[in-house]
Amino acid sequence: MIVMQGKGVSRGVANGPIYFFQRSSTTISDAPAADLEAEKQRITAAQEKSIEQLNALADQAREETGEETAILFETHAMFVEDEDYVDCMMNTLTERGCCAEKAVETAGEEFSAMLAAMDDAYMQARAADIKDVTRRILNNLMGIADGGIDSDVPVILAADDLAPSETLQLDKSKILGFITQGGSSNSHTAILARTMGIPAICGLGDALKPEQAGREAYIDGETGQVAIEPDDITLSAYQAKQEKQREMKELMETMKGQQDVTLDGREMMVYCNIGSPEDVAAVLSNDGQGIGLFRSEFLYLAASDYPSEDDQFNAYKQVAAAMGGKRVVIRTLDIGADKQVDYFEMRKEENPALGVRAIRICLNRPEVFRTQLRALYRASAYGKVAIMFPMITSVWEVKECKRACQKVMAELDAEGIPYNKDTELGIMIETPASVLVAEELAREVDFFSVGTNDLTQYTLACDRQANDLGKFFDPHHPAVLRALKLATDAAHKAGIWIGICGELGADLELLETFLAIGIDELSVSPTSVLPLRAEIRKSIAKTCTLEKLEC
Ligand code: PEP
Ligand code: MG
Repeated sequence: MIVMQGKGVSRGVANGPIYFFQRSSTTISDAPAADLEAEKQRITAAQEKSIEQLNALADQAREETGEETAILFETHAMFVEDEDYVDCMMNTLTERGCCAEKAVETAGEEFSAMLAAMDDAYMQARAADIKDVTRRILNNLMGIADGGIDSDVPVILAADDLAPSETLQLDKSKILGFITQGGSSNSHTAILARTMGIPAICGLGDALKPEQAGREAYIDGETGQVAIEPDDITLSAYQAKQEKQREMKELMETMKGQQDVTLDGREMMVYCNIGSPEDVAAVLSNDGQGIGLFRSEFLYLAASDYPSEDDQFNAYKQVAAAMGGKRVVIRTLDIGADKQVDYFEMRKEENPALGVRAIRICLNRPEVFRTQLRALYRASAYGKVAIMFPMITSVWEVKECKRACQKVMAELDAEGIPYNKDTELGIMIETPASVLVAEELAREVDFFSVGTNDLTQYTLACDRQANDLGKFFDPHHPAVLRALKLATDAAHKAGIWIGICGELGADLELLETFLAIGIDELSVSPTSVLPLRAEIRKSIAKTCTLEKLEC
């Protein structure tokens, strides 16, 4: 048995023969070219063909794996035309007087080396994209087709690293798993593997060798372990995990289309948390019943300047329309603390988690708030949008938020712009203060959603970013659970619904406690929807107890 340890980047256990990815390799001559003008034209023709192929791959990806992958190929098409990259190819050609192939190869090497040397992990991962684009242009220059899998049986595909387009063009029915020497969880191959639901491990380094081709391997995309020809004990551990995985997959498929209701008829809405419009595909494929938290600040974090009203409107409208009338709770800007945005030019704070963050920024900067509220109300005409305010501590803050909403609605009325006048307004319960004045807050809004990540941090006085607090950071602490109960009682007394959108919502160990407390909705990551539904459907609400609230 050979055991190798890498980084698991896409979950799941698989087994099969190792197959080393075949990549066409040709030595390119550095000899002087006879007609440099003709060589330049050859590069231009190869670029055009590459763009055509990449656009076709984007269309294929949009159908097979979703928007994220499609955007990847569209970005590759843009790399092909990148001004600096093209200048580098053409200058090399002129300066060295070499053939088109040598110029393209050199430009690709220089660009990818420059990216790989950067400090930023994301930019480093882009070096693989430039290599991929260069290889495509070269193949088009030389009339070479991409490598594939020449095997009659499905395989564990091994490679030094796989380029995204190589991954997408492979025959998926032949791939049981991916194992690579290089790569990272940020790499697009890892993203693609996760989207396709194929187990993958990267970073195996030199332990993975071409001479292992043909040998039977078991891989675990969760732990990152590969076992070649495992001994009996290892083999039965892998097989037991595979069996569990099979059962789970079958069970989850049967959960699609089912209601989120306990055996005794209590409904628990299961919604999803998202950070961008691209995440809606995962919500729909996992049968999420709505969106309980759209973290709108990611639009701000991804931009280099304030996103315009129209940019925001388009993003919110896209999500609202794609959800087809299901509730979409969009949280207003929640930056500050760990989410810093340079162009906001915030003053440096000693204690940013206790500083000017979230709703405090919006109330201090009415223009920023107004732009976002206008975008949100305009989007409300295209679906069931609800607006949620984060980090509330006082009733006056909510009243001020509502006044800002009234003002925006009056503006839209005056401009004749359609919007939903009955758009639900809610607040996040994330601070002990909001729990203690929950009865008064509940009279002001249509719903509560508990941000247990922050509520735990502020209730237990434990920094959620610190990773050395160990057992002191305990989201199951009775104080946190009692805070949930107080907020729930206050919400129900006022006749409004209450959900949880922090990480705790997906914690299956607490489901019974949530049912006992009376929580109405859980908003979780899309992949947690079906496991949660399966548990809800096995539960009996009336027998659930509050024992976890005891010290
Ligand atoms: C939370 O605090 O639980 C929450 C959902 O908000 P965030 O994690 O974005 O602060
Ligand atoms: Mg929060």
